[in-house]
Amino acid sequence: MKRLFVLCLALCLCLPAFSLADGDLYVKNIGAVPDDFIFGMDLSSVISLESGGTRFYDFDGNETDIFSLLKQNGITHIRARLWNEPYDSKGRPYGGGICDLDTLTQIGIRSTKAGLKLIVDFHYSDFWADPGKQMPPKAWAGMSAEEKAAATYGFTLSALTVLRENAIDVGMVQIGNETNGRLCGENDWPGICRLMAAGLKAVREVYPEALAALHFTNPENGAQLRYFAKQLDLYALDYDVFATSWYPFWHGSLDNLAAVLSDIADAYGKKVMVMETSYPYTALDSDFSGNTVSSNALDGYPFTPQGQANMIAELADTLINRTRSAIGLVYWEGAWITAGGADYEENLALWEKYGSGWATRFAGEYDPDDAGKYYGGSAVDNQAFFDPAGHPLPSLRVFRLLREGGAEAPLHADACENVYVSADINAEFRLPESVSAVMNDGSKKSIPVAWDTDDAGLEALRQKGAGTYEIHGTAQGMTVSCFLTLEYHNLLSNPGFEEGDAHWQFTDLGNTQQLYVEDKPSDSLSGSKHAHFWSAKTDSVRFTLEQDIEDLPEGKYVFGISIMGGDGGKTDIYAYVNVNGETVAKVPMKISYYNVWDTETTEAFFVPEGARVTVGVYVACQGSGNGAWGKLDDAFVNSAR
Ligand code: CA
Repeated sequence: MKRLFVLCLALCLCLPAFSLADGDLYVKNIGAVPDDFIFGMDLSSVISLESGGTRFYDFDGNETDIFSLLKQNGITHIRARLWNEPYDSKGRPYGGGICDLDTLTQIGIRSTKAGLKLIVDFHYSDFWADPGKQMPPKAWAGMSAEEKAAATYGFTLSALTVLRENAIDVGMVQIGNETNGRLCGENDWPGICRLMAAGLKAVREVYPEALAALHFTNPENGAQLRYFAKQLDLYALDYDVFATSWYPFWHGSLDNLAAVLSDIADAYGKKVMVMETSYPYTALDSDFSGNTVSSNALDGYPFTPQGQANMIAELADTLINRTRSAIGLVYWEGAWITAGGADYEENLALWEKYGSGWATRFAGEYDPDDAGKYYGGSAVDNQAFFDPAGHPLPSLRVFRLLREGGAEAPLHADACENVYVSADINAEFRLPESVSAVMNDGSKKSIPVAWDTDDAGLEALRQKGAGTYEIHGTAQGMTVSCFLTLEYHNLLSNPGFEEGDAHWQFTDLGNTQQLYVEDKPSDSLSGSKHAHFWSAKTDSVRFTLEQDIEDLPEGKYVFGISIMGGDGGKTDIYAYVNVNGETVAKVPMKISYYNVWDTETTEAFFVPEGARVTVGVYVACQGSGNGAWGKLDDAFVNSAR
């Protein structure tokens, strides 16, 4: 009989290139979607991308206006951010879509023309504002809160007036972006609310028909979000919508999101919504600028267009059916694809010229610690609803299909979970015959897999030695990886004495004064415990320390252990193995000085099936007059060949 070690810890998802046939998207039926429920898309970077040559296509492959395409696919609102003056002192753009008033107006005109409403996202900064930074615009530097409030009112009023003059259909205006206790350089609620009140006043004056929103993030910290809502109430802010970002990787569960938003809606009589969300359709980067999320897909949501669509469906279901007063969700930058260059240098030139990356190097003047160091392209091109060439993914249909009561599709595997196998390097083992697949409806099923590596290949890996090896396989046309860790399994119990003397027997054959397991990390080879011996008298240390091993499979093995000690005088120390009462292996050991460990391993020995096996150490010391002492630790029995 030979022991088979196959230990699977499957979890990480592997990603095939997406292979969803057109029209093959599964969308669960979440019941009636209210007519006025918002399915928004943030398109802040689209003008910069198009200026640099990016084009978007419809499902038939024809070049199309992205706004019309989104409208046809169930999007109701376009969101776009507004920065006050996103240019350096020489007039060069900071990038990130160059989201000034001119860009916003262009986006607004096109969204209105396509029959979409605009959500205006005031950052009150010259560049990115989020929980990490809320820098005031350059022109507002040094202003008091009172002065900034006046500037906020004036800037909001004039920007919205330009939109109004261009007959832009504004559905919502948010005052501040992810203002978690900071806004425009103000770090306390009196200051923040003063600015918010000023901005809200301008919204009511120019766009009285629009919803006025405030936007926060980190709903995983529900207490904090409730605290923010309470502050807004204490300062009696006149707003309609309490909005939060919800990024599935960082922001807690949907149950938590529903609970926190429902509480706030009830407590203050507000509408609530998710103002930003996104999910990857691939792990791959397409623009040579790293992405915020590129591995470890959430369980049940592979990085595929179907996984992306299922995540949106789940969020919509949560908001519509399990959250009180929820009015919509907005997908963040769902078209921020690669600028299209063939390599990093080509893209860098496009980003710098057209501002289609998240930051240009010119932003360093304003934001030296972040943009100044890490300027580059899109960090979310793998979370778009378009492939790198601008063709829509099947997942873009999810919004319309949700409204139409879902979409059936034949059940099929959408992605496979990678497998992790740990095997004893010298034992016989098999790779798993099946892997877990995530089906298009989010369920899981075991499907057969064929690995590229055969027995000869596995033998070659054994020859290379211990380590982790990636083995590729194919399951229903999808590539899957097996991460095989070859290691030496220790077949002893309690090998390092961390469980005290469990499984070990001390037998004193002389007059050893101290013989026990000691808890003293500085005297242990590893962990905190080891076997300790000491005797003051000459010629008194003599003992064995043994462990019986039950049910060792037939095969070849080695035994080893480590010892250190001193003052031993003449010693007779050896590790040994008894099989059916007969010593079959033996290796001498020695003690010398404190913390000089002697590690010895026996030659390989054969164990027949059903044999009684005992491994042990014999220690005898005459002692040098100071009392012989020593420590034993980290025993092992490994398979051998
Ligand atoms: Ca990227």
